[in-house]
Amino acid sequence: MRVKNFLRETLYGKILLTMILTATVTILSIIGLQEAVLKKSYIELEEELSLKNLNRLTQAIERDASYIGRLLLDWSIWDDTYDFVLTGNREYIESNLSIDSLYNISLNFMFFYNRGGDLIWGEFYDFDKWEKVPCGGFSTTFIQQRDLLFNGDEDYSRSGLIDTAMGLLFMAAGPVFKSDRSGPAEGTLIIGKLIDERFIEKMKEVVQGEFSLYSENREDILWELNRSEQSYLMEKDENRILLYKAIEDLEGRKTLVVESRTERNIWQYGQRVTSIFITFILLLIILFTVIILILIRVIYINPLHKITLFLQSWKKESGSPVSLDMNRVDEIGTLSRGINSFSNELRELATTDSLTGLNNRHLMDTLMPGIWNIMSRDRSEITIILMDIDYFKKYNDTYGHQAGDRCLKEVGAILKSSIRRSSDMVIRYGGEEFLLILPATPISGGLMIANKIQERLEKKSLEHKSSEIYRRVTMSLGISSGFPNSDNNLDQLIEQADSALYESKEAGRNRITLYRE
Ligand code: GH3
Ligand code: MG
Ligand code: MG
Repeated sequence: MRVKNFLRETLYGKILLTMILTATVTILSIIGLQEAVLKKSYIELEEELSLKNLNRLTQAIERDASYIGRLLLDWSIWDDTYDFVLTGNREYIESNLSIDSLYNISLNFMFFYNRGGDLIWGEFYDFDKWEKVPCGGFSTTFIQQRDLLFNGDEDYSRSGLIDTAMGLLFMAAGPVFKSDRSGPAEGTLIIGKLIDERFIEKMKEVVQGEFSLYSENREDILWELNRSEQSYLMEKDENRILLYKAIEDLEGRKTLVVESRTERNIWQYGQRVTSIFITFILLLIILFTVIILILIRVIYINPLHKITLFLQSWKKESGSPVSLDMNRVDEIGTLSRGINSFSNELRELATTDSLTGLNNRHLMDTLMPGIWNIMSRDRSEITIILMDIDYFKKYNDTYGHQAGDRCLKEVGAILKSSIRRSSDMVIRYGGEEFLLILPATPISGGLMIANKIQERLEKKSLEHKSSEIYRRVTMSLGISSGFPNSDNNLDQLIEQADSALYESKEAGRNRITLYRE
């Protein structure tokens, strides 16, 4: 509930709400962008990379297969080999068929057969152990069964991958000719290379990620590949992409399956980048919010608070007006200056009589209790003079109400000019009645001022032809004085001044009477 109020009732709350909305929209947009565009392109990139891996792998295999094929031609169409198949001379073996020579051309085995199908020479080397491998079964059974030996067809030649009892290997078989390819073919040469650690290591250099070669138990994949229009098969999960491709064996049958496994780190990396980005944006928005809140506090809230405090403490009768000067040139400065002059004007209006510009009774009523208290403590005398224009009704009747007003103004000006102290107060007490309050003044001082007023009025010589006593405007005055204390008040003094004034009227007007008990 308090949070709701904070959001609804404060500028901070509203800004915070705006920021939260902005953050939400921004982050949703980023997530949307990621889902709609980035995710797709990340996945495309991953698939592209996986396919590249698969292609590198199959190309590397094909390259090795064709290398074996070319090697076979180099050796089988050669006068020395031709001669060796015919005669089986030892010289050929010594100079060409050592373990070193085979290692240098990356061949694990070579088998030479004559036209009749008898083995002339054949060895299988294990380069890891650097020794010959007994391979009787392989050289006879496997080769015979596979029908790799020269059968009279002179174009007969094969190369490719094949799974054997010795492991998965590249193999090539072909008839032996003279160097100029002149016939007849005089036997068969069969060479091969194991898919061993060396090959795997070499492959790992060209292919990013893992891979496997399967020669059996992947009938499901082979079946799928046969069905599919594409040359490869793709399987995906959260973490990696598996790609399968079938490759032909020595006999041209698709029995081998190449599997390449690529980690899906692009997508994972993308997700990580996006979440870092989102966190960054969030932090940025939080930072902006804090900065904006601080700026708003300094630029707007504090001044607004000052204005509010000013308006709350504003009193129309405040003696010394508190000013709201912010010393700013912007809108808030304009507002504060506006409020300032508005408050001054309002105060003026509330405490001043608009016709004469003198203070009004309202100001007197609100200020006097305070003044009375101060004077009680100081034990100083206060004198008041109550005045009333003589035969003013007749003045109005004779000269008109507007002229009456002008006369009241003139009298007001005379009163104002007759006092000197800032603590003295001139009040328009009634229609044509005025009250002078003279704090810290003895009755003799009041009498002096009363005389001064009458002299100045006389000197002003305002015509009043219907006055029953004189042809000029005159005033009757009543003076009273006393020592303020907690038992008396201004009203009592005014009553006394009023009765003195009444005496002045009774005694013929245009005179001053001091109140006496
Ligand atoms: P006196 O005091 O000498 O006994 O006679 P008076 O005619 O002055 O007595 P009264 O108090 O009866 O009349 C006061 C008149 O002052 C009544 C009214 O017409 C006039 N008056 C009061 N206020 C104003 C004002 O604001 N403007 C004008 N023009 N006349 C006013
Ligand atoms: Mg009167
Ligand atoms: Mg009068």
